[in-house]
Amino acid sequence: MARKYVYFFGGGKADGNESMKNLLGGKGANLAEMAGHKDLRLPVPPGFTVTTEVCLYYYKNRKAYPKGLKEEVAGALKKLEKLMAKDFGDPVNPLLVSVRSGARRSMPGMMETVLNIGLTTKTIPGLIKHSSGNSRFVYDAYRRLIMMYSDVVMEKAAGIEPKDDESGIRKQLEKIMGAMKKEKGYKSDADLTADDLKKLCVLFKDKIKEALHKEFPDDHHEQLWGGIGAVFVSWNGKRAVSYRRIEGIPDEWGTAVTVQTMVFGNMGNDSATGVAFTRNPGNGENQFYGEFLMNAQGEDVVAGIRTPAPINEYSKSEYNKDLVSLEEAMPKIYKELFDYQGRLEKHYRDMQDIEFTIEKGRLFMLQCRVGKRNGPAAVRMAMDMFKEKLIKKEEAVMRVSPAQLEELLHPIIDPKAEMTHKALAKGLPAGPGGASGQIVYSAKDAVEWAKQGKKVILVREETNPEDVEGMRAAEAILTCRGGMTSHAALVARGWGKCCIVGCSALHIDYAKKEVQIDGKLLNEGDWITLNGTKGNVYEGRLPMIDASEENKILIDFLKICGSIKRLGVRTNADTPDDARKARQFQAEGIGLFRTEHMFYGKGSDEALFILRKIIVSKTEAERKKALDELFPYMKKDIKDTLEAMDGLPVVIRLLDPPLHEFVPREQVKLEQLAKDLNITLQDLSGRAGALHESNPMMGHRGVRLGITYPEVSSTQIRAVLEAAAELLKEGRHPYPEIMIPVVSDVKELNDQLVIAKQVYKEVLIKYNLKKIKHLFGTMIEIPRAVLVAGQLAQVAEFFSYGTNDLTQMGFGFSRDDIGGFLPDYIKKGILPEDPFQSIDQEGIGELIKIGIERGRKTRKDLEVGICGEHGGEPRSVEFCHRVGMDYVSCSPFRVPIAILAAAQAVLKEKKK
Ligand code: PEP
Ligand code: MG
Repeated sequence: MARKYVYFFGGGKADGNESMKNLLGGKGANLAEMAGHKDLRLPVPPGFTVTTEVCLYYYKNRKAYPKGLKEEVAGALKKLEKLMAKDFGDPVNPLLVSVRSGARRSMPGMMETVLNIGLTTKTIPGLIKHSSGNSRFVYDAYRRLIMMYSDVVMEKAAGIEPKDDESGIRKQLEKIMGAMKKEKGYKSDADLTADDLKKLCVLFKDKIKEALHKEFPDDHHEQLWGGIGAVFVSWNGKRAVSYRRIEGIPDEWGTAVTVQTMVFGNMGNDSATGVAFTRNPGNGENQFYGEFLMNAQGEDVVAGIRTPAPINEYSKSEYNKDLVSLEEAMPKIYKELFDYQGRLEKHYRDMQDIEFTIEKGRLFMLQCRVGKRNGPAAVRMAMDMFKEKLIKKEEAVMRVSPAQLEELLHPIIDPKAEMTHKALAKGLPAGPGGASGQIVYSAKDAVEWAKQGKKVILVREETNPEDVEGMRAAEAILTCRGGMTSHAALVARGWGKCCIVGCSALHIDYAKKEVQIDGKLLNEGDWITLNGTKGNVYEGRLPMIDASEENKILIDFLKICGSIKRLGVRTNADTPDDARKARQFQAEGIGLFRTEHMFYGKGSDEALFILRKIIVSKTEAERKKALDELFPYMKKDIKDTLEAMDGLPVVIRLLDPPLHEFVPREQVKLEQLAKDLNITLQDLSGRAGALHESNPMMGHRGVRLGITYPEVSSTQIRAVLEAAAELLKEGRHPYPEIMIPVVSDVKELNDQLVIAKQVYKEVLIKYNLKKIKHLFGTMIEIPRAVLVAGQLAQVAEFFSYGTNDLTQMGFGFSRDDIGGFLPDYIKKGILPEDPFQSIDQEGIGELIKIGIERGRKTRKDLEVGICGEHGGEPRSVEFCHRVGMDYVSCSPFRVPIAILAAAQAVLKEKKK
């Protein structure tokens, strides 16, 4: 049988269904489902979808169509005509259609659409007659067709590149319309009369001929095929391609084209068009939420030219509260719409984004798809739907992406600072969180400034889909027009980016690169701060904080993830504060406590000073004296952390960095140190200089320090065990795991174990205890350690993969110097990504696997974890799950992400 290229829907039936997204695109598949599924059969304007296979054929065959397509389209048109009792191109009762794009995954506004196809000088009189003589409506539809068609088909699809923004055909036609409005003293497009519009259409056609050297087509079939071709061409348009790169959508998917009967929301005050969501996409509340415009076409809502009205009481905000809602204006239709949205959500078991049109008091459903939502909304919806028994817990877990979860942990403006600052202006809160940046006025500038490492906020009257790269590069987006469903809002929400739209107090002068806000003049490069959760705009740069407020929904969600995951999730924490924060986020212990961090940061001066004395000590006696001085500091730090993690394991690593890192550089500090040690400055400089190494990362660090200075190890181990002993005496449940870093041979471990055993014995006697629960283990960060893992496991009770060093030494890439070459590696495709961020699974990952296998062969119950930066990166977490690690460990703010990734790893494995 010949391949089927065209799928019909309408009249309560459909050839396709929702499961055919790959072939029909998201839009086509959902229209088929809405129109034809027995539980739905909603009033969808009938139409047909040309498959994505045709798009692929089109590109493979130099823009030709497969054999039989023309006949199939003609057949589908016939069916459509029959169903609508109208004929395409008929002078008496003409059928008009729209031509729309639709890829497998939604790419909002990135491809083209042409409306009102079928309007020609031949069909205009018939349509006027059939619209009760409303010639204004018909000529308005015609001028929209001319504007869209000339722009999309005759210019863009024909590959004509206008010199600049201003010289494109659409802009030129807009100028003609603007001039007519000015001449007549009109304020809005609605003031244009039928005669004005008729004249405009003539002027438009003349301009098109002059600018593009072609006549505007007056044949309905030519218009239809021009539209279909233009949609296919738009799959490879600039903005669609860059959107695909950002979103990781493959080029080979192609787009489908849906040809659908036109319905009109602009046929008077009993007509309207709108966009709605079955739940609030901004915060996840289970409330029907949306906007509409009376007497308008769909493009007017999305373009954000008029302020849309709320569909119901719930959708009212400060900006639209004075407008009449759909519920108030057309209660019966609202009820019908409300019923449909409920059925759609139940059917799809997810939040739906719906487009509808009301034509002369009749409701039509134009589109539905799974609605984009920001992180907080995603988590809330997943939890609510789980509680409502709409979805199972496994589905709830899969509904939230790690990136969305990250949004919940995004910075917000410090509320204290916000209280003392007056907002310059307010707009609609379209994307959550806070952001500060320097003002830029074009997407191009946003990209360029961001490349220079600047933080920018893209300020535009409205963002159009061509701005997508600039929107991505910006910290946040601020527009003066558009509602919560405008493109800026949709795109920002999809990315979880801070965004404010519809901020009408903004008056932008693009030419001068300045903006007036409430009488205040701001220039390019000036700093502003946005609160995208509230919609507030502030002048200057307000401080940000982490959104660590207790979030019950997040915690409940993490608990569900916890009930599914197998991997443990611990945190890398060096302070009791970090430990507490991570525990709130459900961390199950500490996977890395870097002892050296007690010498950095706030309140570390005294401890650091003593450490410096240790470092420059010449004799063992000198060093021991200083170590004794340091001991109480170490013990306290460790004890506080063990206490914060009471009952859970805490991996405490012995000193790791090369000692010279701690030698003071300032003269005053050097002098003070010399004085305290009772030596001359010269003597001190000599000792410090002797510590210099050419390659410190591979120098005197990690276990090598403990081999040279056993007293350094014994003091640290004593601090750990005494802290634990004291806690035991206080009735607590400490569980330290002592970890030796940078190990490459079992004899190193044996050397340190002798020390540990001796100290353990002494501490038991001192505290009169029989046992202190603890483990003795090693980091695996050197390739040799992986190969001799079988031997290491004879001594080590646990392994913790230090993948920062393992990547460094496995690749031979210095972790501190990759900036010079890694970007080129990625640009040239030599490496797919930075291996310090996501585990290089085929190389370093193999090393990890070998180490686990060899280690567990020796010691069956060997505990294996990871504490390198990769422990909080979702794909690496999935890898750690697959290779059978016991836990991952990461910084406190990545703990929730690791928990989610660990749960999703289990579910993905089951799916296979
Ligand atoms: C590692 O090497 O992965 C590790 C955790 O240790 P550090 O980053 O402190 O070298
Ligand atoms: Mg390391």
